[in-house]
Amino acid sequence: MPSLPSPSHKERISAPSKPTPTFSPDTVHVVYVLGGPGAGKGTQCANLVRDYGFKHLSAGDLLRAEQDRKDSEFGGMIKEYIADGKIVPMEVTVQLLENAIQAKLDEGEGQVGGKGSRFLIDGFPRKMDQALHFESSVCPSQFTLFFDCPEEEMQKRLLHRGETSGRSDDNAESIKKRFKTFVETSMPVVEYFEKEGKVVRVEATESPERIYEVVKGRMGERGFEMIGK
Ligand code: UDP
Ligand code: MG
Repeated sequence: MPSLPSPSHKERISAPSKPTPTFSPDTVHVVYVLGGPGAGKGTQCANLVRDYGFKHLSAGDLLRAEQDRKDSEFGGMIKEYIADGKIVPMEVTVQLLENAIQAKLDEGEGQVGGKGSRFLIDGFPRKMDQALHFESSVCPSQFTLFFDCPEEEMQKRLLHRGETSGRSDDNAESIKKRFKTFVETSMPVVEYFEKEGKVVRVEATESPERIYEVVKGRMGERGFEMIGK
């Protein structure tokens, strides 16, 4: 990569002050959901939405919607990145997420009693730059729910899903690239948060029902109670 020209003396201003996150973690409770492609993130998120009053935001779904939006200047780029299993430049994804959180808050959604709002961010952050940018400028997370599943099992699930999902990246070639990106780019995010004691790791090979039993136990340990029960 060519190096950037060094700034002239005049441009060398003091470092920008650290941005303040748009949302306070005292009132907006963000839980990231990570796991390889096909680890079962979407399935478990649906359970958590039903029982814990979370609002579900999928970074992949937001990107696909932006890709299909008629006037989007990013549509073509997003399409290429997704087909290639690469991570779309973080500015786009973080902005889409911030907008989506704001929209839900404006609608008064995601509120759980007097306890603030709960958001599950599914399939994000998948790269260190996104993680740090979101934490410092949008909202620091509570923890990351990480679904740990062997690649063999994930591949089986994805190929099966590909028969009906209509997703352009549920094919053998894209799946291979997504696995590679997951291991090389996304696992470092899990390891980073793990060092901070902010990862809840769940084995994700068993049935969805069994896995959810484990998830519920772990949510309770982290202070998240079910609603309306
Ligand atoms: N993606 C991205 N940034 C994100 C999340 C997703 O660029 O923060 C892209 C990436 O190309 C990924 C695709 O969207 O492979 C699909 O993501 P999704 O979470 O829908 O699918 P999964 O791989 O979990 O099945
Ligand atoms: Mg998904």
